[in-house]
Amino acid sequence: MSKLANETAKAELGRATWKLLHTMTLRYPEKPTHDEREALEAYMHLTSRLYPCGECATEFQALLKAFPPQTASRLSASLWLCSVHNEVNARLEKPMFDCSKLDAEYDCGCGDATTSTAATDGRPKSGPSSHDADRMELMDLEWDVAKDDVTGVRMIKGGRMVI
Ligand SMILES: Cc1cc2nc3c(=O)[nH]c(=O)nc-3n(C[C@H](O)[C@H](O)[C@H](O)COP(=O)(O)OP(=O)(O)OC[C@H]3O[C@@H](n4cnc5c(N)ncnc54)[C@H](O)[C@@H]3O)c2cc1C
Repeated sequence: MSKLANETAKAELGRATWKLLHTMTLRYPEKPTHDEREALEAYMHLTSRLYPCGECATEFQALLKAFPPQTASRLSASLWLCSVHNEVNARLEKPMFDCSKLDAEYDCGCGDATTSTAATDGRPKSGPSSHDADRMELMDLEWDVAKDDVTGVRMIKGGRMVI
């Protein structure tokens, strides 16, 4: 006998998944290596393929096609995911999330320990120093470039595409 859909379990899975994905992008290196960038991109694509809720997986795959993962920095990755989550919120008629509040919302409880040697490396030449970067507000986007330098994809900033 086939199982009935269970909206409560689907929503719980969604909340847990979003929590993991957002927390991960907010701990992603400020200046990722090529390997780390590929890992994050692959992680998102594999999640969209293997996500247990079929409807959600199809939706996520379509979103990844329309808005390819932005992996150039912690800022671009976390704002990209926030925007993608807002796309899902819009389709489900849920309220939009203010992406400037990401930092306050997600704490992995890991303290200051870094997950990558790249995270303690210097900033991109065009950006602020690593000391400044640690204290940088999420929505302080002035140093950021308009396009992802690996994929050429236009950045989504604060939930909207840069024209
Ligand atoms: C990839 C993916 C695709 C999904 N597709 C579907 C689908 O097609 N159909 C379906 O019914 N369900 C889908 N879900 C589940 C759905 O998105 C919700 O997780 C679920 O409905 C529970 O919603 P919620 O109101 O508790 O908040 P959620 O959307 O789960 O959000 C959890 C918390 O995250 C915070 N939050 C909200 N928006 C953002 C944002 N933009 N950025 C950062 N934080 C935010 C808020 O504090 C919120 O309470 C999907 C989940 C995932 C991970």
